Amino acid sequence: GSSTTLNADEDNINVVVRVRPISEKERSCGERTLLEFPGKGQVVCHNTTPSQKAKVFSYNVVFEPEATQEDILEYSGVKRLLEMAVEGFSCTAFCYGQTGSGKTHTLTGPPGLVESGASPFAPGHGLVVRSFVHLFRLISERPESHFILKASFLEIYNEKVIDLLNPGSARKPLQVRWSKESRGFYVENLFTVDCETLDDLFAVLEEGMRNRAVGAHAMNAHSSRSHTLLCVRVRRDLREDAGVVCSTHGKINFVDLAGSEMTKRTHSTGKTLEEANNINRSLMVLGYCIAQLSDGKKRGHIPYRDSKLTKLLADSLAGNGVTLMIACIAPTRSNLSETINTLRYAARAK
Ligand code: ADP
Ligand code: MG
Repeated sequence: GSSTTLNADEDNINVVVRVRPISEKERSCGERTLLEFPGKGQVVCHNTTPSQKAKVFSYNVVFEPEATQEDILEYSGVKRLLEMAVEGFSCTAFCYGQTGSGKTHTLTGPPGLVESGASPFAPGHGLVVRSFVHLFRLISERPESHFILKASFLEIYNEKVIDLLNPGSARKPLQVRWSKESRGFYVENLFTVDCETLDDLFAVLEEGMRNRAVGAHAMNAHSSRSHTLLCVRVRRDLREDAGVVCSTHGKINFVDLAGSEMTKRTHSTGKTLEEANNINRSLMVLGYCIAQLSDGKKRGHIPYRDSKLTKLLADSLAGNGVTLMIACIAPTRSNLSETINTLRYAARAK
């Protein structure tokens, strides 16, 4: 597992890989795997032709197909992000990978679970709900502080920001602006919900996912083309001697990215081409920002401004934040080339 006591400068970006199990359907088609997990955070990718050498990649942690949702909470390092959010840092956990690799499953569990109104403690919940539970645990351990939580939930589709808590915004996309006072990017007129309890936070997730499902219905393969970003802001007021109150402002973002296979759809035409370029742009700029940051000392210009997504993640990608990348991959042979693309993207970030 990963330590929860590291400071922000030590490890700005943590990269883990999650391999989903082979599905029943794949198994019945006779699909096999070409992946092997020798331990030590390694993934070995055998080639389709035995004459070619296997590729070896290494990460902070690799979650094999048997890993549970609880394992992801415990060993991905997300608990450290939650502690840092409580302490006033900006943090982001995002899932990257091709469509069908398990991004949404990792973040929000099987389809319909959250929207079914299940309890936040129901088995099967993904990382987001488990993180909510942990966040309230952390807060209850700090009775000397007063906390104010605010949540928002948006979608970026084709470089347009849609408020998932205010579906009317689909017709009139929101603007991303720069705030001089807080020296950060923000979404103008984004709906923000005060959350006093775990149930309040859970209700935000549920509402946003319901709205997204409704919006997605009208558009084919919508979910593989858009990014969703759920943000929980954590304000902490600490009473010091003589009644002085000192406040910290942290946050944690949970991001379910568009399918990484979209980065290559450059042969499409018309609207799809514009879409592909925009998705391409966000994912490419994100990859570029992350590679720059993990490059340690020789930090050049980091192009946050080049996409909506990276603008909104800038503070957690920058010096004062911590980012967790969960690279999701399918185990099967037919997905090998996308799997290798994802493993490369993730290795570049490490
Ligand atoms: P993505 O969001 O990357 O497109 P999904 O999360 O929708 O992928 O996963 C594709 C399918 O595989 C879904 O039916 C999902 O429930 C299933 N799945 C993904 N990961 C797992 C897992 N770890 N265990 C069981 N089923 C999974
Ligand atoms: Mg998905």
